[in-house]
Amino acid sequence: MDQTRPFPQASTPRGPAGSVGPVPADPARQRRHRAEPLTPAPRLLLFDLDDTLCDYTSARDQRLRRAFGPAARRLAGRGDPAPVLDRLVAASVAVHPHGADHFADLLREQGIDEPDLAEAAVDWYRINRFHGLTMFADAAATVAALRTAGGGPPRRVGVITNGPADVQRAKIELLAIERLVDFVVISGEFGVWKPDPAIFAEALRLGGATAADAVFVGDSVEHDMAGARAAGIRSVWVNPTGRPWPGPDAPPDREVADLSALLPLLEAAPAPAP
Ligand SMILES: [Mg+2]
Repeated sequence: MDQTRPFPQASTPRGPAGSVGPVPADPARQRRHRAEPLTPAPRLLLFDLDDTLCDYTSARDQRLRRAFGPAARRLAGRGDPAPVLDRLVAASVAVHPHGADHFADLLREQGIDEPDLAEAAVDWYRINRFHGLTMFADAAATVAALRTAGGGPPRRVGVITNGPADVQRAKIELLAIERLVDFVVISGEFGVWKPDPAIFAEALRLGGATAADAVFVGDSVEHDMAGARAAGIRSVWVNPTGRPWPGPDAPPDREVADLSALLPLLEAAPAPAP
């Protein structure tokens, strides 16, 4: 299990092995949490990239902390800069979870009206785009094991990721994603973004599978779960913090706290070859 993700406190009762957090009282949620295999077993497995295979959020927060370090030390004076840094990072993510255009305004609001300091923060953040970015510890081994889980011919694996072509392509190279999967579809290259079903259809085409033969695994309710649903593909929601399903759409077919919890979901007999 990946140790970098936050999990519910150990003192809370846990659900079935591999499931998220406390035992859910809601019967629909209990069904979703079950480690019961998806039947028929998919022939094609599709993954989101950021915060599903790689730990984007932790890396982004580390990157913000480095970028805002000098400003936090200035604001803290002789005090501890850590709480100031926490505040700056939280404020920045609230304004824009990915960009840096707002840094100068944000620092000004916090009492630092020093353009050089803001510019240095923006530069550091942009230059060190992939600072601290790694795959989740269990991602590579789990994806490899998922190819053959449940027996039958090895299943194909693909990635569908939203983002600019240059950024996502560089990230895929850095993380050696293409050694792990059969194909990658990047929204910035393909021309439409998740949740548009067209990008899921492209992945099905590349994977040589129908929607009924595939399962999509991702963390985003809006992009991954909504998109898979629109494309008629079964879905597994990666939900490490155990947050409730927000609706209003019907919930995903399964919900897991981490990638290794996918393994028991793929232990059904594979569907007969078409
Ligand atoms: Mg994601």
